[in-house]
Amino acid sequence: MYNYLFHVHTWRCGHASDEQDEAYIRKAVAMGAKYIIFTDHAPFLGNPFTNRMPYEQLDSYLASLKYLKEKYRHKITVKTGLEIEYLPSFRDYYEELRANKEIDMLMLGQHHYEESRGQYFFHDSEMAYFGLGNATLKGMNTGLFDVVAHPDRIFKAHTHWCEAFDRISELMIKIAMNRNIYLEKNARSMCRLQSKEYRPEFWKLVPADAKIIYGCDAHSTAELRMGEEIRCLN
Ligand SMILES: [Zn+2]
Ligand SMILES: [Zn+2]
Repeated sequence: MYNYLFHVHTWRCGHASDEQDEAYIRKAVAMGAKYIIFTDHAPFLGNPFTNRMPYEQLDSYLASLKYLKEKYRHKITVKTGLEIEYLPSFRDYYEELRANKEIDMLMLGQHHYEESRGQYFFHDSEMAYFGLGNATLKGMNTGLFDVVAHPDRIFKAHTHWCEAFDRISELMIKIAMNRNIYLEKNARSMCRLQSKEYRPEFWKLVPADAKIIYGCDAHSTAELRMGEEIRCLN
C-alpha cells in the first residue's frame, strides 16, 4: 500500500544532484516501488524565482517523463507532477497546468507568498506562518491542487507551538478533508528535527480518516525513500 516513492525532484531545479531522470526510475525499480511520482519545483513565466526549473525547461521535463513512463510501463508506474506555490496573480497559469494532459498532479508547496500583486514575501518572520498559511488555505480552496506539501513547515520560524497555530492547522485539515486533498508527511522535515519543520503538534490534530501521503522530497537518488519507510519514522 505504501510501496510508492512520492515527491521526487530532478536536476532542473538547480539544487538537486545532476543525475538523470532515468536514474531515479532505475533505482525505484530496484527498490521494488510500484509508483514513482515526480514533483519538481514548477517554473513561473519570466523566471521570477530561484530554486526551480527555468520556464523554458518545462516542456522537456514533461517530455522526458512521458518517454520514461512508456519505456518502464511494465516495471513501474511513473507519474508527472509539479510542486508549486499558490500566488493569486498566476491563477490562469494553474488552470493551464491543470488542463495539461501530460501533468498528472499538482502539489501545493508554499515556500513564499504574494503579499500584494507582484510583491512576494520570503523571509522567516514572526508572521510568516500567517501569510504562508493563508496562501495555502486560499490555494486549497481553488480546487486546483491534489496534495499539500509539508503543511506543518509554515511554522518553522517558531520554536514553541501556540494556540494560533492550532486554528490555522484546523482550517487546513478541514479543507483537506472536505476537498479530498492529501496532506504530506515530509521525510526531509522529519529528518531535520532541529529545523522545526516537522510538527507533531500539527499531526496530532489530523483525524485518522484524513488522507496522508508520505513524501521523500528526494533531491538525489540516494534520498529516495519508500512511503512505508517514512510512515515508520514516527
Ligand atoms: Zn527542492
Ligand atoms: Zn519538494
